Amino acid sequence: MVDILRANQQNLKEAGKAIRRGELVAFPTETVYGLGADATNDAAVSAIYKAKGRPSNNPLIVHITTLDQAYSYGEFDDRAKKLAVKYWPGPMSLIVKRSANCPLSHLVSAGGDTVALRMPAHPISRQLLEAANVPVAAPSANISGGISPTLPAHVKQSLGDNIFMLIDGGACLLGVESSVISALPNQNVQILRPGSVDAAELSEFLAQPVDQIQNHKTSDENMISPGLLSRHYAPKSGLRMNVAEPHKNEAYLAFGAHPTSQYSLNLSPTKDLVEAAKNLFAMLHKLDDYCQQHNCTMAAAPIPNTGLGIAINDRLRRASAAK
Ligand code: AMP
Ligand code: MG
Repeated sequence: MVDILRANQQNLKEAGKAIRRGELVAFPTETVYGLGADATNDAAVSAIYKAKGRPSNNPLIVHITTLDQAYSYGEFDDRAKKLAVKYWPGPMSLIVKRSANCPLSHLVSAGGDTVALRMPAHPISRQLLEAANVPVAAPSANISGGISPTLPAHVKQSLGDNIFMLIDGGACLLGVESSVISALPNQNVQILRPGSVDAAELSEFLAQPVDQIQNHKTSDENMISPGLLSRHYAPKSGLRMNVAEPHKNEAYLAFGAHPTSQYSLNLSPTKDLVEAAKNLFAMLHKLDDYCQQHNCTMAAAPIPNTGLGIAINDRLRRASAAK
């Protein structure tokens, strides 16, 4: 079982060295815990796919610390630059064309000609990236398709046998993954995965249309972004969403005032979407464990479909999609 290490300077230095040696290191970001490896090292990147059981056609986000790095790995047109300058560091991943001499492993692009880049804001991620001194590919640190990790214990439970090091940064601040935004030439900017900014805000900022891409239904469709598959974030137990009145035997994920059920957790008693996003995955993990022990299923309260609520509903929809 992997050791959980405190995020002090010494450990982050060791973690940086480990990444440079090609090891897998799980670490906190402001969104969820990431499973990091040197993005220029084919063997290290392929170890990420193996540890997660991730299909090889699902590309990875590469984490960086400077705009110069971004501009050397990808082709940023004016729109992409505008987004990078405004939203980085922060919870936005930008998909751009790989540059002509891009040094990143082709595995991070799943063999395609685009790459997803993100500059995280979390001080521990930044210190780790600086210690590693290489770009770091880091998908969420969970078995592929499972619920995303927002606590070190989630990572340990899911990947503890398969990773070299786990840096403990406590609970992630935001709790839902980055927005994935495609800014490719000759097409509208597209939101492939909703996060903390919505299409209206981006469209106003760029003064041009921005498309919100809907979930793909099956793995057979021509996928823009395989992580958009309908069934993702799959808990082991069934989940119904938009449920105002849960059955007595359902474990309930409440929002605001809530009706009684045998077991419930409240995303936000005051209906605060920021608090709800932060609690989402940790509460899903707990409810799922409860249901596995008590042989029941889950229901989630209706969440307003605005702002972060769009991202929360997106994750709930995919957690509740039929197997
Ligand atoms: P995660 O693995 O949880 O970090 O999620 C990363 C998301 O970004 C997944 O939905 C991927 O499919 C998506 N993604 C990463 N790179 C690309 C890319 N080059 N083109 C399209 N989607 C991407
Ligand atoms: Mg993920």
